[in-house]
Order: sequence, then structure tokens, then C-alpha cells
Amino acid sequence: MTSPSPLVELHHPLFNKFGVSVSVKRDDLIHPIISGNKWRKLKHSLATAKSSGKTGIVSFGGPYSNHIHALAYACKLEGLKSIGIIRGEPHYSTNATLSQAANFDMEFKFVSRQQYRERAEPTYLHLLQEEYPNYLIVPEGGSNQLALKGVAEVVTELKQQTSWDYLLTPVGSGGTIAGLLSANHQEHKIIGISVLKQDGYLEQEIRNLLAPIKIEMKNWQVVNNYHCGGYAKFSKDDQQQIISIAKQLDIPLEPIYSGKMVLAFFDMLQNNYFRPNSHIILLHTGGLQGLKGLAEQNKIKADEWPWLPAQQVQ
Ligand SMILES: *Cc1c(COP(=O)(O)O)cnc(C)c1O
Repeated sequence: MTSPSPLVELHHPLFNKFGVSVSVKRDDLIHPIISGNKWRKLKHSLATAKSSGKTGIVSFGGPYSNHIHALAYACKLEGLKSIGIIRGEPHYSTNATLSQAANFDMEFKFVSRQQYRERAEPTYLHLLQEEYPNYLIVPEGGSNQLALKGVAEVVTELKQQTSWDYLLTPVGSGGTIAGLLSANHQEHKIIGISVLKQDGYLEQEIRNLLAPIKIEMKNWQVVNNYHCGGYAKFSKDDQQQIISIAKQLDIPLEPIYSGKMVLAFFDMLQNNYFRPNSHIILLHTGGLQGLKGLAEQNKIKADEWPWLPAQQVQ
């Protein structure tokens, strides 16, 4: 694991034009297999499972989930078993994401969409715990209280690496931005770019995650108009823009999380969102493994994304 993750300065003519400096926190480089924020979020759950003598971890995800992929590998590394409760039919087990997770010895249980909706219901979780008595149950995306502690380390590292004014992160379930906020103490503005269509429930989810630690929540925002049509949706034009930005900035991006964050960032920059002379940090949360699944489903063309990871070996 690379710790702290590298902070890299980015260059682009628009940064000069708007008088800002921009860096990327490369959490995608933490590990070649475990994607950035998923490692941060899982780290303390893994330690807890081990120190409490659990057999393994049970968690939830869609068939191309970065979290499921990271969990399978991390558990194998730590000598824990892993069980993935996957939304969808068993045929997904041969896709790019799940076939790798299977290589890392994850066991799958496929459930219908309807069943999957119960993933956070106390009654369902109680039954699940009875079925797997010696397993730690971790929510979808790894977003539990322990995740906040892991993600908070991004802010701790940044404080040692530089001084800065804004931090941008993509938002899916809200665990990552909640972790950043837990360590921020309001001195920097934290901006989440929602990668899905939502109407305030993410803000509520973030507040719920942070409720137990009772921090004052100021100086943050979830920006809602850059989801490109919804979770994992994007147009051809969005794709081309993301690829072009990735090439200009010389960083690998994907269109589900980091790509939407940079689209939002450039648009906000050109709309004078950021104060001149400020230092803006983009958090690269990883997720590049997802490109393979997108190529497999013909949602992207593999040869247009030259940094698409080669088939990883165990
Ligand atoms: C899961 C994920 C996110 C979203 O993180 P949340 O904690 O769910 O908000 C962002 N980026 C990548 C690459 C992810 O895999």
C-alpha cells in the first residue's frame, strides 16, 4: 500500500486563466488492485474483523462494484473469507469484476433487485447474521462508521502535504465525503459531485453518517447537476470530454466517478466558482477496474481508454 498517496500538481491553460492552482490526490495509486477510496473505507473494518476473531466479511454490491472487487482482494490479503451479496443473476459471475473477485476466493450469493433493496433493513440483517454468525456485515460501498475513520486519513495526509482551499470528491453513497468532513473542521471547503440523480437524500445520508461524531457541519456542498443522466450513465459526448481531459491532465479517469468529477470541476471553474489564487485538490478515488466491465458491456470502446487496466493476475 502506498501511504501517503501522492499529491500531483496539474497543468492546464484554464488554471492560469482563472488564477488557480490544482492538484490531484492520487488515491488510485494506493494499490494496483484495491481502488482508492474503497481501500480507505475498508481498512478499519478489516482490522476489526481480524482483531475480533471473525471468519470473514459479508457485504453487498452490484455486479460491477468497485467495493466488491476491493473487498474480495483485501480479505484474501488479510486471511479473511469474503461473501458478496450481488444484485442480479448468477451469469454475472463471469464478468470482468466478479471473475476477479472469484479469483480472490469470494463466494457470491445472487439476489433479486427486490431482495437487494432490503440490504439495510434491520430484520434482514438480523437473519443474515444468523446465517453467517461469525462474519462482520459491512454495508454497500463499505460506508459504515469505521469507513469515516479510514477516509479521514486523506485529510490528515493532505494537511502534511500542502495547504489548500477546496477539496472535490465524487459522491456515490456519501461515505467518502462524510469521512472527509469528519476530519475537516471547516477550514477547507469540501465539495461532493453527486454521480447519481438525487434530491437531497445524499445530504441526509451524509448527516446520518456523521451524527454519532457530532461535528459542526459547515463549508461543504453536494453539487447535483453533473450526474450525466444517472448512476453509470453518460453520453458519447461526456465520454469524449472525459478522455480529452484525462489526456490533457495526464491522469487516468473513468466515466462513473472521477470522470464526472472532472467534468463538474471544469464547468465550475469556467463559471467562476473558485476564488482566484486558491489551491484546489481533486481526490482521485480510483475505480479504474470498472473500465473493463464497461468495455465488456460495450458502453465504452476499450481502445479509446489507453489506461484501461490489463487483465490483472492474482
Ligand atoms: C464507491 C466510489 C465512489 C463513491 O464513494 P462513496 O463513499 O460511496 O460516496 C467514488 N469513487 C469511486 C472510484 C468509487 O469506487
